[in-house]
Amino acid sequence: MAGSSKPRVAIVGAGIGGLTAGLLLANQGYPVHVHEQARRLGEVGAGLTLSKGAQATLREAGVLDAVRGAASLSATIPFLHYRTGERLAGEYDRSDGTQDTPEIVGRQILRADLHAILAEAYGRTTGDLSLSRQLVGIEPRGDGVRLAFSDGTRAEADLLIGADGLRSTVREVMFDPTPPLFTGQVAWRFLAPWEAAAPFMGAGRAAVYFGPGRVINRYTLRRGRIVNCVALARSESWFEEGWSVRGDPAELRGLFEGWHRDVTGLLAQAPAETLRRWGLFHREPLAVWRDGGVTLLGDAAHPMLPFLGLGAAMAIEDAMVLARALALEAEPTAALDLYEAVRKPRTAEVFRQSVRQGELLQSRDPDNYDPAASPASDRTFFDYDPVTAPLRAA
Ligand SMILES: Cc1cc2nc3c(=O)[nH]c(=O)nc-3n(C[C@H](O)[C@H](O)[C@H](O)COP(=O)(O)OP(=O)(O)OC[C@H]3O[C@@H](n4cnc5c(N)ncnc54)[C@H](O)[C@@H]3O)c2cc1C
Repeated sequence: MAGSSKPRVAIVGAGIGGLTAGLLLANQGYPVHVHEQARRLGEVGAGLTLSKGAQATLREAGVLDAVRGAASLSATIPFLHYRTGERLAGEYDRSDGTQDTPEIVGRQILRADLHAILAEAYGRTTGDLSLSRQLVGIEPRGDGVRLAFSDGTRAEADLLIGADGLRSTVREVMFDPTPPLFTGQVAWRFLAPWEAAAPFMGAGRAAVYFGPGRVINRYTLRRGRIVNCVALARSESWFEEGWSVRGDPAELRGLFEGWHRDVTGLLAQAPAETLRRWGLFHREPLAVWRDGGVTLLGDAAHPMLPFLGLGAAMAIEDAMVLARALALEAEPTAALDLYEAVRKPRTAEVFRQSVRQGELLQSRDPDNYDPAASPASDRTFFDYDPVTAPLRAA
């Protein structure tokens, strides 16, 4: 740890989790360097949901006001019958989405907006950020690690946080070379201006329609100005990679033929230029998250399925717990162990329940839907607060 009382932290991946961790750790006085493979931090992606715990973290990071300005709110999200539109669980939320109330459980935000807020705040810290830095190798070096990037550059650090997403190189090199597995689920997503979507939004600003083998989740973003629509369906195969694979609007409409008119009407608004498909992948929970001074965070450690809307929240919560553990423990590797001990059970449980929720929504007969059986009714998932949760057993 030459030259500083705090260990030098390298974070690989300037995604949602990497930037949140970078911001919290730089604010705590750590020398932080974030390395991102993309040439620029761009405008990719659609909507994300921020749980209470994610918002508590963003408050600690000093960006909650900016996030509030950009996000939409939802008190509850009703679950609706796919053909009749009948409400099977949850309340309609007919507020205008701009007022905070005690019932607010979630905020929905455009990934690009959250990402820009985090990047801007991180840019105001002393932390470094290098773009076009694709990590390709990791070598142990003394007490720390040496990182090798595809452009031939190298960097050294005492601690390495792999926040490099679903196809994490840090995970592959240090922990688990098995590639992610296709879940048999494909998601289509698009954004529609409020004016186009409004005639089909009678069920309120946020709603989930579900039927055999299919789910539609739609909610407003940017304080109600745009509507984010995610349609999930089972599929035999998936060969493409990335967040920017184009989707065919006719194929999407065909999958939801016969659904409630608010669904078919909304899907008819899907713009061919911006309709995207993405395959859902998962990984088996990892047995160990630390090797020396190296650990994982977010999707790199535990990719989530989207059925409880907690994927981004888990990465954000990880960042909070990691920062708290580093502040608490004198020995950085002990802090990484504490972080792992706190986050492993929480993320494994949320993953398990996300799978269950997906099965419940897609395979059961909606006419016999039992809301009490749904993990979505269990507030403990959504009310967890990583800022105050105990880090050690009482
Ligand atoms: C471009 C993009 C768009 C997305 N859009 C959506 C969306 O619309 N809705 C949704 O629910 N989720 C979306 N996600 C996923 C979502 O952001 C994550 O599931 C969640 O926020 C967890 O965040 P994370 O920080 O673990 O991973 P991510 O936010 O995925 O970030 C991982 C970062 O690591 C970088 N990286 C990967 N490999 C390397 C390497 N070898 N060297 C250096 N950098 C590397 C990636 O470029 C990326 O910036 C998107 C992810 C990306 C990368």
